[in-house]
Amino acid sequence: MKYDIIVIGSGPGGYVAAIRASQLGKKVAVVEKAEVGGICLNWGCIPTKALLKSAQVYTYINHAENYGIKVEGEVKPDMEAVVARSRGVADTMSKGVQYLFKKNNVDVIAGYGKLTADKQVEVTDAEGNVTIYEADDIILATRRHRLGVRFLLHLNGSESDLGGIPTQCGPE
Ligand SMILES: Cc1cc2nc3c(=O)[nH]c(=O)nc-3n(C[C@H](O)[C@H](O)[C@H](O)COP(=O)(O)OP(=O)(O)OC[C@H]3O[C@@H](n4cnc5c(N)ncnc54)[C@H](O)[C@@H]3O)c2cc1C
Repeated sequence: MKYDIIVIGSGPGGYVAAIRASQLGKKVAVVEKAEVGGICLNWGCIPTKALLKSAQVYTYINHAENYGIKVEGEVKPDMEAVVARSRGVADTMSKGVQYLFKKNNVDVIAGYGKLTADKQVEVTDAEGNVTIYEADDIILATRRHRLGVRFLLHLNGSESDLGGIPTQCGPE
């Protein structure tokens, strides 16, 4: 299959480039080996902010009297529900990008993309099938963020499973 542009990676770098290129009249495909939307939507910015929102709500409730509101009974976080909400927000955002790809006629090719020759991308899917695609231009948007700090959420004084969010990121 031949495209004007193939973008490898569907994170914020890749999906914006792909959608814009398609809007400008190019025939575009995105190759993605994991979740559409990349680290930011699935594991980084979005789900972590959803977790932080729960922490904020918890803090507000614990200081409700400062706002003139009385809260009675035990207030405690349900980490399973907190993480489930975070995963739900991430899934919604990823589906939003999938919808934008569809709306803007960007093909999504699921698999691991590799540059093999000039203007060629070899894609290996989850079953190990290999397909060669061609494009006049290829955009590499495969960035893996190096976080450098441990990301931990403390709710109720305890470290908890964050539903897959990386506490450390480094090059693959
Ligand atoms: C915990 C955490 C919290 C963060 N919070 C924030 C925040 O609040 N604000 C902020 O601005 N940034 C934040 N970031 C950083 C942000 O996630 C990154 O800057 C952003 O995701 C980079 O986008 P990108 O498109 O360059 O790469 P990515 O989002 O990493 O996307 C790259 C995509 O390429 C795919 N890919 C890689 N190699 C291949 C291949 N060979 N074939 C096919 N697909 C491939 C990957 O699967 C991935 O989907 C956070 C990161 C983390 C880890």
